[in-house]
Amino acid sequence: MYATRFAPSPTGYLHLGHALSALTAFDAARAASGRFVLRIEDIDQARARPEFEAAIHEDLAWLEISWEEPVRRQSEHMDEYAAVLQRLIDRDLVYRCFRTRKEIAEAIASAPHGESADVFRGEKLPADEEAAKLAAGEAFAWRLSLKKARGVLGPAYFALVFEDETGLVRAEPEKHGDVVLARKDFPTSYHLASVWDDALQGVTQVIRGADLREAAHLHVLLQKLLDLPQPTYRHHRLVLGEDGKRLAKRDQSATLRVLRESGKTPDDIRAMLNI
Ligand code: GLU
Repeated sequence: MYATRFAPSPTGYLHLGHALSALTAFDAARAASGRFVLRIEDIDQARARPEFEAAIHEDLAWLEISWEEPVRRQSEHMDEYAAVLQRLIDRDLVYRCFRTRKEIAEAIASAPHGESADVFRGEKLPADEEAAKLAAGEAFAWRLSLKKARGVLGPAYFALVFEDETGLVRAEPEKHGDVVLARKDFPTSYHLASVWDDALQGVTQVIRGADLREAAHLHVLLQKLLDLPQPTYRHHRLVLGEDGKRLAKRDQSATLRVLRESGKTPDDIRAMLNI
């Protein structure tokens, strides 16, 4: 059955860009007589706030959007993400990277020419060096090893494709390099949690803004490695602010609550978004 979702992070009030994501997904679900799921992506507990989460529910209901209950809140499932990460650790698909951001920036800058992409490729430390760093309590990130992924998948790695609004796209995980999937005391990143939850929630089409277009190249690889079904993707245009730049949390005048308080109706919002 067709299922799509809206997966906001409660780190600010929803703005017109979010409304475009939520309405596009909700309308698509309705047109397909499918499911529409709301998911709260609140793994970043330092930035997530209860009032923003409450506002998400309020603003979506005002837009006449309805969703399945119960709503999944990622912060309540950290053990699950830790277990998913463990699967990758057991298969040696991730490695501990102890480099600081500065060291990584330097490694990228000094990469031989030809490596134009701003991405990091590292590798697992020799066991004794790693043990010493762990004993010293050093911080680390768990990075996905593209080299290992290629080894495990073989030709399937290079044959990886996905479907989005432009047609069939060849996946290029190299765009991301060896991404951070978790950290020493934190079992997941956005990528891991989002991919896991989309599969768990039976999402068949991921609908989100064009700012996340590149993420699909990584997400389909994670799906393959974790043996999860692959959804199709649909990226919608970004809503621009008066300055011509894409809307951000700082653009208070475009928040749904300010627009509502200024007398706008849900139909006005649709008209402003041209949907
Ligand atoms: N939580 C993400 C955000 O607020 C969206 C993730 C997604 O749609 O995959 O931008």
